[in-house]
Amino acid sequence: MIWANKNNERIKATPRNIAICPICQKEVIAKCGSIKVWHWSHKSLKDCDDWAEPESEWHYGWKQLFPKEQQEVKMGKHRADIKTRSGTIIELQNSSIDIRTLRQREDFYGDMIWLLNGSTIAKHFYFNIETKYMQWLWKPAIVKYSNKPIFIDYKDKIVKYSEIKFGCTVFSKEQFLKLYGDIYGNQ
Ligand SMILES: [Zn+2]
Repeated sequence: MIWANKNNERIKATPRNIAICPICQKEVIAKCGSIKVWHWSHKSLKDCDDWAEPESEWHYGWKQLFPKEQQEVKMGKHRADIKTRSGTIIELQNSSIDIRTLRQREDFYGDMIWLLNGSTIAKHFYFNIETKYMQWLWKPAIVKYSNKPIFIDYKDKIVKYSEIKFGCTVFSKEQFLKLYGDIYGNQ
């Protein structure tokens, strides 16, 4: 978690700081080491949002491309990674999840897309950008069972996934951001 509340403001973690989790209202402690992204951590060490993934450079980098108020948006007991201006949720995903959680998350967020990290959860996705030939050496459950659009952050491109042979669409990061309530239009 990148953002927490203090004195009616959303703030990022800085060394030795303490703030309040926007979801459970409990204290969170700043974790500011040299290896992991600076983030907030619950005292119990367990995130109150059981859908949350550990904060990674990849998550952080993507969130920062959107205005502050569109990052980690509170929705009931959950934090949506990104909520675009038009209201679409972008869920950034590094690790695989079970089918039950997948269904719950998709039903809960409704208007959402998945953005999968091509270096982690989708690392067994092979894609030829020229020919659009695509192959999985191992296909994650999200890809098998999702009812929502899936995008893969793949080697500096964003690939909109399709099961159809040669059916994937390729976007540059800028094109993707223009589609989804972008930094350029907002600032
Ligand atoms: Zn919490």
